[in-house]
Amino acid sequence: MSTEATLLERCQSKCELCGSDSSLAPFVVSPHTQVTVDHAVMICDTCKGQIENPETVDVNHWRCLNDSMWSQEVPVQVMAWRQLKKLSATEGWAQDLLDMMYMEEETAKWAEIGMDDNAEKPLDVNGVELKKGDDVTIIKDLPIKGSSQVIKQGTVVRNINVSDTDPTHIQGKVNGQAMYVIAEYCRKK
Ligand SMILES: [Zn+2]
Repeated sequence: MSTEATLLERCQSKCELCGSDSSLAPFVVSPHTQVTVDHAVMICDTCKGQIENPETVDVNHWRCLNDSMWSQEVPVQVMAWRQLKKLSATEGWAQDLLDMMYMEEETAKWAEIGMDDNAEKPLDVNGVELKKGDDVTIIKDLPIKGSSQVIKQGTVVRNINVSDTDPTHIQGKVNGQAMYVIAEYCRKK
C-alpha cells in the first residue's frame, strides 16, 4: 500500500486536525522533509493554508485541536502542539489545552525542534543540527542520482559541508566523490 493510501486509511478520510473530509493531502511535519507514515499528517486545505500562512489564521477554526490533540498518532500530536503553542500567545484556551496535553518525551522534543519554521539548518534523523566539519553516518542505502550505485547504509562521511542554498542537504565525499545527501538520512557521529 502506498504511503498516501496508508495515511488515508489511518485518518479514515478525515482531516487529522479538524475532522473535515474535504480535499486531504499529506503534510510533512518539519524538520522532516519526506512524506512517510511516521512523519506526515493528512490534513485539509483549510488547515494547510492557515499553517503555511499564519497571517490568515482563523482562531476559531483551531478549536478543533481540543479533539485532535488526543490523537494516538505522534505526528498529529506534534502538529496540534505547535498550533496550540502559536495560538497560546494570544488565546487563553489554547494555553489551557497545552497545559492538559500529554506527549512522550521524544515527541515533545520533535515538536519543539521543528517549531522554528525559519530555521534554515540541516538537521539529521534525530533533529540534531549538522555543521560544517561534522562526521555523519548514512542511515539507509541511498541510490546515487544518475548512476546505478548506492551509498551503503552505515557509510561514514567525514568533514561534511553545509549548503546555504539548500538547508535540507549536506555535502560530503563518498569514496572520493563529492555529493549531496539529504540531511535527514544522516546521523551525526
Ligand atoms: Zn483540517
